[in-house]
Amino acid sequence: MLSNESFRKQAHQVVDWIADYLENIQQYPVKPTMTPGALRAQLPAEAPVDGEDMDKIWEDYLNLIVPGITHWQHPGFMALFPSNASYPGILGELAVAGLGINAMMWDTSPSATELEQTVMEWLRKASGLPEGFTGVIHDTASMSTLTAIITARERISSFAVNNGGYHGYENLVMYCTAQTHYSIEKGAKAAGIGAAHVRKIPTDALYAMNPTALEQQINADIAAGLQPFMVVATLGTTSTLAFDPLESIAEICVANHLWLHVDAAYAGSGFFLPQYRHYLKGITKADSYVFNAHKWLFTNFDCSCYFVKDTDLLINTFSANPDYLKRTEADVAQFKDWGIPLGRRFRALKLWFVLRNFGIAGIQQKLQAHIDLSVHFRNTIQHDAQWELMAPHVMNMLCIRYHPSSINDIQTLNELNMSLLKKINSDGRFYLSGTMVEGNYLIRVVIGQTNVDQAHVDALISLMQASVADITK
Ligand SMILES: *Cc1c(COP(=O)(O)O)cnc(C)c1O
Repeated sequence: MLSNESFRKQAHQVVDWIADYLENIQQYPVKPTMTPGALRAQLPAEAPVDGEDMDKIWEDYLNLIVPGITHWQHPGFMALFPSNASYPGILGELAVAGLGINAMMWDTSPSATELEQTVMEWLRKASGLPEGFTGVIHDTASMSTLTAIITARERISSFAVNNGGYHGYENLVMYCTAQTHYSIEKGAKAAGIGAAHVRKIPTDALYAMNPTALEQQINADIAAGLQPFMVVATLGTTSTLAFDPLESIAEICVANHLWLHVDAAYAGSGFFLPQYRHYLKGITKADSYVFNAHKWLFTNFDCSCYFVKDTDLLINTFSANPDYLKRTEADVAQFKDWGIPLGRRFRALKLWFVLRNFGIAGIQQKLQAHIDLSVHFRNTIQHDAQWELMAPHVMNMLCIRYHPSSINDIQTLNELNMSLLKKINSDGRFYLSGTMVEGNYLIRVVIGQTNVDQAHVDALISLMQASVADITK
């Protein structure tokens, strides 16, 4: 075991290493070239019986672990969605590790609860959400959405499912689209709704939910004796960043008394910029909303911001007050009752550090810079008629496809783009990901890592051109 004195020494070295790592991160390939099982083969099958020296453990970390890391903070990380860190975010995580608290309720750290309430209110205002929503931090959007599904289930059943199980409520159905994130279906399974009771409403040409089709499906389900209870609208889908038409969907939900949950896991950060807030029209009629500050808001994973209108309903769904958790103060929030886990990390601190150190204007500038870079990228590749834009360009994400006029067969085209993506990624300076949308294979380019700049984007464009030349020669 480390003494306090050796901890202090080691900790300074770790912080120095973190600073060096981030300064030199571009020396690493964004994605490691590791074969499955390679690390496990190098690690002992049993934990050591006698404690080992921290120096030795750290050395193994550098030699064995780091080579198998995907470098999410590398500016060439343009795959999936970013999971941004930042200096204030890291400092927040370090300070929380030092405190080592469990923020389950007010008594177990009053500051943690009250700071969480404060920063969530800051976030609500800064990201264009109306009054009437109250925030709580969960780990992931998946968990926030599961919380919403269970609360909606308890609203429609007047807590009958919580109390007596599913008897009489086997016919609940909910709605989303085929473009909706998989976490919604997963949540429906976990909440006992059943994947077969998740209706995938058809989308329009821009991959957004067709509200007429939604209404028709709801009516058909009611006619068939089913019980619609919830719609999940996505603002910024994962494949193409499509925005479901919130206002029309909200009206249908109000007319049919359906819970409306809004999944803005990625794009929610973009609403710090007022020019995108038209997508939020109708939000006052929603019941719950989630966005991840750990994606595009420079706050280290994990930090999922869940906003809900009816906090009493939420608390009545999840509260449990065994004798050993009796509260000492009557009128304080007990966040253990706002979701599934009892134990909670103190996530508000890093968010507080980030919001204060960047400032709202600083965050807006960073987001706008990413968006400007994506415009630069699009303008440049559009000079080459063989690159197609496959979905509307909103915020900082582009869905593109290489399409030489000589190729018309979709299968050949998909395979060409898969090989192209592989070729681009094999260079090591960039990591892009692909997706399949309605039979078309697309390459996604998300320009959103905290420190990405124009030199990176220009290097990517050159690499793409070279990769095309290489695989088509
Ligand atoms: C990333 C994402 C999710 C899942 O987020 P987790 O926090 O990893 O659970 C859900 N929905 C959308 C739209 C996303 O982009």
